[in-house]
Amino acid sequence: MKKEIWDDYSLIFPLNDIKMVFSNKQADIKKPSDLIGFSDLVGLNSDNIININQIHSSNVIMVETPGDYNAADGIINEGGNLICSIKVADCLPIYFVNNNTKTIGLVHAGWRGLSQGIINKFADNINKYYENTSDYYALIGPSIQSCCFEIKDDVLSFFDSRFYKQIGHNKYKVNLQEWALNQLMDVGIAKKNISVINKCTYCLDTIYHSYRRSGSATGRMYALLGWSN
Ligand SMILES: [Zn+2]
Repeated sequence: MKKEIWDDYSLIFPLNDIKMVFSNKQADIKKPSDLIGFSDLVGLNSDNIININQIHSSNVIMVETPGDYNAADGIINEGGNLICSIKVADCLPIYFVNNNTKTIGLVHAGWRGLSQGIINKFADNINKYYENTSDYYALIGPSIQSCCFEIKDDVLSFFDSRFYKQIGHNKYKVNLQEWALNQLMDVGIAKKNISVINKCTYCLDTIYHSYRRSGSATGRMYALLGWSN
């Protein structure tokens, strides 16, 4: 199989042996067995995958055994022995890596999650392991960008006014990546350790699925994160 079916961000930080991958449209992952095949293909042991049932919440769970978990939008695996997975189509996949302790995490951050403080909750949980967010690297993967993410007055109050601008009557463009970047820095992750992929899932219609472009029946991209050995 060809490597073109995923984006590989494994070398974006000075980290050895981490795999940070993001499936694209061509990967065509539709069912659990597709994800298992994809994981093995990118070099991550599919026996160790953590799956969560995402609900656009700010729930972050700390997981020590592989398998399926309910009602969460963030995962932390202390020590990084497992493989974190989430699925997205426009929402921000945020990858977290601590190169000292090897702890890893993945967050599915849509505007609801950002509004409800999912990044803060992630940091609160990290503190329970006595880890420092300043030791972390964070990557914001492909997601809907300010060119295409538009909102109306009905939800405006959920957004931080520093990260939207009005473009017409009852129309605003939001920069979710800047909002997330700001929250990551607020919890203590150094700007130099944060990378933002400015690829728009809505614009790049031949590469990515987009919920806003195609509706609820659209496919999903999968973010996988783990240490290879
Ligand atoms: Zn766009």
